[in-house]
Amino acid sequence: MSPPFPSSLCHRCAHNRYITTPRGSTFLRCGALAQKYLPQPIRRCPAFSPRPRQESP
Ligand code: SF4
Repeated sequence: MSPPFPSSLCHRCAHNRYITTPRGSTFLRCGALAQKYLPQPIRRCPAFSPRPRQESP
């Protein structure tokens, strides 16, 4: 999988989930904010929480 928006802060965040559609599109879904699908790429975020290293994609 080649994740979209590689510069996004979400890739390093514990709240991020990858959602892949049956057609192969991948979206970044935030589990911390009310808005689940934010305009990407995220550069700064007050809810950012570093993802533990062993959980990196
Ligand atoms: S908390 Fe912020 S950095 Fe983390 S997944 Fe949500 S939008 Fe991205």
